[in-house]
Amino acid sequence: MHHPTSTPRPSIYYPYHVHAPWLPSAHPVQNRHRVVVVGAGPAGMVTALELARYGVPSVVLNAELQVSQGSRAIVFTRRSMEILQQVGVADRVSAHGLPWRFGNSYYRGQHVFRMEAPHSPHDRFYPMINLQQQYLEEYLIDACEANPLIELRWGNKAGTVQQLDRGVQLEVDTPEGPYTLTTDWLVAADGGRSGLRSAMDLQMEGASYEGFFVIADIKIDLPLPTERLAYFDPDWNRGNTILMHREPHGIWRVDYQLPPGETPEAALQPESLKQRIDAQLAMIGFAGLPWEMDWCSVYSARTLTLPDFVQGNVIFTGDAAHLLPIFGVRGANTAFQDAQSLGWHLAFVVNGWAGPVLLANHSAERVGAAREIIHEAGKSTRFMAPPTRGFRLLRDAVLSLSLTQDFVRPLYHWRTSRPHEYTHSVLNSPGDDNLLFTNGPAKGAPPTNARLGPDDFLLDHLGGGFNLLYFTQASPLPQEVLQVVNQTSARGVPVRVIAVGSGHPVEGADTTLTDAQGSCRERYGATSSGAAYLLRPDQHVCARWLTLDATRLKNALHAALPQ
Ligand SMILES: Cc1cc2nc3c(=O)[nH]c(=O)nc-3n(C[C@H](O)[C@H](O)[C@H](O)COP(=O)(O)OP(=O)(O)OC[C@H]3O[C@@H](n4cnc5c(N)ncnc54)[C@H](O)[C@@H]3O)c2cc1C
Repeated sequence: MHHPTSTPRPSIYYPYHVHAPWLPSAHPVQNRHRVVVVGAGPAGMVTALELARYGVPSVVLNAELQVSQGSRAIVFTRRSMEILQQVGVADRVSAHGLPWRFGNSYYRGQHVFRMEAPHSPHDRFYPMINLQQQYLEEYLIDACEANPLIELRWGNKAGTVQQLDRGVQLEVDTPEGPYTLTTDWLVAADGGRSGLRSAMDLQMEGASYEGFFVIADIKIDLPLPTERLAYFDPDWNRGNTILMHREPHGIWRVDYQLPPGETPEAALQPESLKQRIDAQLAMIGFAGLPWEMDWCSVYSARTLTLPDFVQGNVIFTGDAAHLLPIFGVRGANTAFQDAQSLGWHLAFVVNGWAGPVLLANHSAERVGAAREIIHEAGKSTRFMAPPTRGFRLLRDAVLSLSLTQDFVRPLYHWRTSRPHEYTHSVLNSPGDDNLLFTNGPAKGAPPTNARLGPDDFLLDHLGGGFNLLYFTQASPLPQEVLQVVNQTSARGVPVRVIAVGSGHPVEGADTTLTDAQGSCRERYGATSSGAAYLLRPDQHVCARWLTLDATRLKNALHAALPQ
């Protein structure tokens, strides 16, 4: 019998809501499901919301009765916000989060680098926004609960899993005992300690780093702007690193590295926490300012991934599929990209719009993304917490040189999470004009946003499914092109035509965007009328043409929908 705690988690600012458990006796038996998602974290819920956009119902199991404890992922990137916009929760994150774009690095008390993340009037969202993970989970839960295609089952813990010929059987434990679920597809979004990954005996590839960071959320009234603060080798913690981030509700997150050999248990003793946080506050000029601890934990960096996310009819996603260092905000931000990708790939297979081979593409693309992140995050991790004497010597040389040499300072710029570009995806159309463009997102890249009005941006208009951006000042969509679009739609595949650049509705387009300033045309390098971009359901470019014609569009859709 599974008994999740029904006592609200302690917090001085976040009121944890305990949900009622879903009990099998109160519901009619349903023989078989199309998709069951194990885990209601960021990855599981975004997957379910994405599936629902394509009409695919899912059951989402959560072992717990409440959202996760502590701030955990606190920084969400612009790309995450664009993904969250698609599933309807970006407005709430914007309304409650703290946007920012500057970071400051200090070495031995001296300010050595100021990072500035690019932000243009064409971006709806800031490069980064800070919000505690509990809030984000709460907004996603509300979106899931409001969606008739998603059934959220609180207090339901997934246990043993058995692959069937075509599907999966799962044992689920609840507060009134176990029951069995059968499903065509099982999404394992059960987090870093994935029980499903262990049950299936899957090995991850990569490395684990020695060395621990204490992560602490404190309530304090610090008169500092929302900017990232990084302190290398400060007097009170020689040889180590400290990070500080402002969060909403008067909370600051302080991450500090422990000296080698110190155990997590010792580091989490109240006296140790107090002494170190007092020392940090004193160092930044706020000695004696009152503060209160909300939550603390210990973290160590790992760079691990499964080599294949699709295992029969079980698909791993988010932290269950890979474990990435938090430096460079790569946890939840990567989970959103995984989930967005999985949502459309799986929905298209479930709906019969493409063959199961599409899932192999999902795995190849997202394993590729995880490997790229591991490569990049490994560099950040080795800089933040050098794993060997050699790395430390090198890092310290950079740090001390930076006191006098300007050219070294940009090395402090840690590589923040960015969307992976699917440059070599098999879904990309081989016969397009990608290389002839002088501007705009290349094949495989995520889309570029463009301001169309005071509160109107290109990405606001993209819907689920394929989007064909057709640049034209007046001409209707060519009849043969429209025919290809209609034939694809007739198969059920969602395709929308968005005409860009005309002051009047364009015949054959679902939407016409005026683009009065020509910014969209310019940002997409669409110099000639008749240029076009085909965006996949996750908005990445899979083909672009200087002049669109029906045959090339047909070929591109064929490539993107492998049977
Ligand atoms: C202490 C800590 C600090 C972190 N700090 C940062 C940070 O600063 N920046 C950053 O980017 N990321 C950070 N992360 C990582 C970030 O929280 C994760 O990357 C993110 O939550 C991944 O989302 P997920 O949905 O894959 O997994 P999770 O959020 O872990 O969600 C897993 C879900 O599965 C459920 N579950 C587990 N087992 C079962 C089961 N058997 N049956 C049913 N349900 C189950 C859990 O209850 C949970 O709802 C931190 C993580 C931790 C633990």
